[in-house]
Amino acid sequence: MFNTDLAEKVSLHKPSIIWKECLNTIKENVPQITFNTWFLPIKPLDVDNSTLKVQLPSQFFWEWIDEHYNTLISKTIHDILGPGAKLAYVIASDSENEEAEIADPIILKKEKNRVQQKVKKDFESYLNPRYTLDNFIKGEGNQLARAAAVAISDNPGGTSFNPLFVYGGVGLGKTHLVQGIGNQILLNFPEKKVIYLSSDIFTVEFVEAIQSNKVNEFSNFYRNMDVLIIDDIQFLTGKEKTQDLFFHIFNTLHQSRKQIILTSDKPPKDLMGLDERLISRFQWGLTADIQPPDFETRMAILKKKAEDYGMTISGDILDFIATNIVSNIRELEGCLIKLLANASLSSREINIELARKTVREIATDRKVNITIENITSLVCDFLKIDENKIRDKTRKKEIVFARQIAMFLSKELTKSSLKTIGLHFGGRDHSTVIHACSSIEKNLPSDPALKEIIDKIRNQIEGTFS
Ligand code: ADP
Ligand code: MG
Repeated sequence: MFNTDLAEKVSLHKPSIIWKECLNTIKENVPQITFNTWFLPIKPLDVDNSTLKVQLPSQFFWEWIDEHYNTLISKTIHDILGPGAKLAYVIASDSENEEAEIADPIILKKEKNRVQQKVKKDFESYLNPRYTLDNFIKGEGNQLARAAAVAISDNPGGTSFNPLFVYGGVGLGKTHLVQGIGNQILLNFPEKKVIYLSSDIFTVEFVEAIQSNKVNEFSNFYRNMDVLIIDDIQFLTGKEKTQDLFFHIFNTLHQSRKQIILTSDKPPKDLMGLDERLISRFQWGLTADIQPPDFETRMAILKKKAEDYGMTISGDILDFIATNIVSNIRELEGCLIKLLANASLSSREINIELARKTVREIATDRKVNITIENITSLVCDFLKIDENKIRDKTRKKEIVFARQIAMFLSKELTKSSLKTIGLHFGGRDHSTVIHACSSIEKNLPSDPALKEIIDKIRNQIEGTFS
């Protein structure tokens, strides 16, 4: 199968020679910056039959390369090692743990969101191995939640943090943190049964169980877990049957000192449409919030992520990004990736101009998605007002207040004209919109509570629709 010359090299176990041959081909097919960024950091480790094993700096690295250069890599490997040849890889930090991490790229593609079970179990944990406590960066905004996470992973079910209820805005690390706990528990206690799912998947499964007459099996399955992690519990609001079942599962687990971990976009007491019994149970353990990262944390996150992606970016560029992208960690990450893509696709170096362009693009993406409807529904959600009332004629004080805020933010965050904004609020005249905006503007400087409400809603809008 091998071309003889190379077969000899293979038999001599010279992975570096083979990889060098691959690099020669790759180099001719991609821009220099792409080559330097994505291919040079790859280390050849081993060659076995027709599989070349390499080491990559991070999981992300693999995903990026696989997405953009899959064809090139397959073709190169086939040209050099023969038609059946494959590339397998390990991630640098996991290389002691080879057995679990080496995979055929194609198989891995399907499996990449599923953690490899160290102990054979008859169910999947649905934990993404990318999310660990080690790579969750500590900052003022997540101190308590993170400390609780560490304590729980050393002693699941055995601390007073049961349940752990983590809440906070979009893209601030809730999912990362709670999956990190799950992954760490599996490392510390491989025999424990850990499962992660979001509350809407829980609901869908429950409905399926009802339809196929398997509610008991469904319920027993979750009662049998050692660690139950349910993400975005706010989606259970208004779903009474699911809540009822969840209530019983919660009680069973809690009584047998099994760990329960929940996340939500708001604190328990604000979960309207959720059974009081659940709300009070959610507060039995520890409720910890995650706040948007401060400047230092943003810098730390950018540095770490840049390092993970194998990027070298100067301090002033990181500083520029951290100054301009403030509300959301997902967006910080997105900015780095976009910056890399921009640099890589246009064969340009990462410099401050490119960073400026990228930050601008992100701001535009964000604005495009922000609509008057989105703003209105977030404002109503935040102020706990029925969305239909905001379009009514009513002059009730709290409705007028919500309407003014929604109009003010619509003017600030969308490109809509005053007339259009007025039309969205029950066909009001543009002068009503002007009045609303100037009334908010007038009060803002002297009313810190108002400013706080507006800032919070604005952050939420910018975080959600980005
Ligand atoms: P949420 O569930 O709160 O919407 P995620 O957990 O999905 O947010 O986080 C969004 C992205 O930001 C993820 O890629 C995550 O890895 C990253 N992230 C968030 N917080 C941190 C942190 N403290 N350290 C490192 N990465 C983080
Ligand atoms: Mg999440």
